[in-house]
Amino acid sequence: MLDLLLPQRCVVCGLGGAQLCAACLARLPRIEPPLCGRCGTPTAWPVRRCRECAGRRLAFASARAAVYYDDAVRAVVAAWKERALRRLAAAAVSVVIEALEPPRADVVTFVPPDPDRGLTRGHHPPRQLAEALARHWQLPLAAPLRRRAAKRQRGLSRAERRRNVAGVFDAKGTLPSSVVLVDDVFTSGATANAAASALRKAGARRVEVVTFARVVR
Ligand SMILES: [Zn+2]
Ligand SMILES: [Zn+2]
Repeated sequence: MLDLLLPQRCVVCGLGGAQLCAACLARLPRIEPPLCGRCGTPTAWPVRRCRECAGRRLAFASARAAVYYDDAVRAVVAAWKERALRRLAAAAVSVVIEALEPPRADVVTFVPPDPDRGLTRGHHPPRQLAEALARHWQLPLAAPLRRRAAKRQRGLSRAERRRNVAGVFDAKGTLPSSVVLVDDVFTSGATANAAASALRKAGARRVEVVTFARVVR
């Protein structure tokens, strides 16, 4: 409702008319292969593990994202989070659908909001993205994950992020074998890994992570 009352401007360039204009949508920096088959980092040629993930234990089998987290994508994600712009959600969904092969999986789920912050926003981009992808891929949506409050990840080092988020998730019920885990942004992978670990403990044997954007160092 809210977005109907606001003046319509592109959140990236400010042009009047659409929440994300066609030119800015077309320019969002797509992530293209070759990638690391395990953690999804762009690489010089296809590899099964890379410098980013070698030596790390990952609870997910793969991680894919549609776009690099550059300034334009940051503006899109921020507006989507803070202002609940529905058309931005639709644009993000279309970019993910165009970029990623439909996964072979039994169910789609999403990283739940931090209990402290989800309440104030009343909506949750990862859930919106997961719902739309589940519809498009004709897979059921499930919401088994619960998240306990933790310190914010922002500003923490990679090692601190992993420690901070380890153990904050758990999953209710019994999951099918193959699960797609959706989030908005893949930063260090610590959150996705902790959530995937909880899904594995609840019976999932394979977790594929799908995000709209990815931070690439
Ligand atoms: Zn624009
Ligand atoms: Zn890797």
